[in-house]
Amino acid sequence: MTESILRVCRACDRYTMKSACPACGAPTRTPHPARYDASDRYGEYRRRLLEAAGPAGGR
Ligand SMILES: [Zn+2]
Repeated sequence: MTESILRVCRACDRYTMKSACPACGAPTRTPHPARYDASDRYGEYRRRLLEAAGPAGGR
């Protein structure tokens, strides 16, 4: 449950325990490595799908 305490600012990629980034003041959020990885995999999957449908569909 320690990951709920640790937060990260996506603006400057800085880890903090505050809800607001001390550097830029932007609202921080809890890091989600699994979600990020899933999103990346989905992006690659979509690219492969698009690439496969490219020559067949034309558009
Ligand atoms: Zn920041």
